[in-house]
Amino acid sequence: MRVFPIGVGTAFGRRFFNTNLIVQFDSGGFLLVDCGITAGRSLETIGMSVLDVRNLFVSHLHADHIGGIEELALKSKLLLGRKIDLYINQGLVDGLWESIRGGIEHTQLGRLRMDDYFNVFAHEEGFVLEGVEFSSRPTNHVNGMMSFDLGFGNLLFTGDTVFSRDYVVGRVNGFGTVIHDCSFNSVQKVHAHYKDLIENRHLFDRLYIIHYEDDVERYRQRMSSADISLCRQYIEIVVTPSWI
Ligand SMILES: [Zn+2]
Ligand SMILES: [Zn+2]
Repeated sequence: MRVFPIGVGTAFGRRFFNTNLIVQFDSGGFLLVDCGITAGRSLETIGMSVLDVRNLFVSHLHADHIGGIEELALKSKLLLGRKIDLYINQGLVDGLWESIRGGIEHTQLGRLRMDDYFNVFAHEEGFVLEGVEFSSRPTNHVNGMMSFDLGFGNLLFTGDTVFSRDYVVGRVNGFGTVIHDCSFNSVQKVHAHYKDLIENRHLFDRLYIIHYEDDVERYRQRMSSADISLCRQYIEIVVTPSWI
């Protein structure tokens, strides 16, 4: 199994693309973890395409995580006649459809529904795909908005979340590698601030950050000194001790 981000940037950044990941299975198939506005372009940069996507996980409903789904759904349906296998917390299903229906409900094939585009695997706490067990738990991102992480093997991807010691203590145990949301901007209160991650570095084994702003160079040395790695676009995440 391999994991690599196709984007590592914050929602409205210009340099690093939306924070979306690929989890590639030994079979060669893969799960796309979130499909933001930039996903199509990110995939094409490495010789892939949204038409290669068969499995999608959605963490929450911000555009940097779902803004590319219109293209994905339309192309899969109209060019390939294929549905996407959608892995999503059941609490997000209606909201996702409300977010995307304006662009895909009406087609030359007639009026379509969620089920015409997706095989919806709505879950409460996780799912199994290609024999791999994925767990998914709520995060603390925006008040009143549901958002979820994704854990599998020895890797936990927090998705978008503020830093929460309670969440980390309760959730991180057992995951040797964590990819944590991180912001360098102290004004924001919906992402994990880098100083909180540095201060609580001891709670993690191997720690990567993602979803960071364009001015990352100013903070690179500080993160490195704290033994915190930066996720980089298209660069595989090194998972320790191993997947097994
Ligand atoms: Zn985001
Ligand atoms: Zn978000």
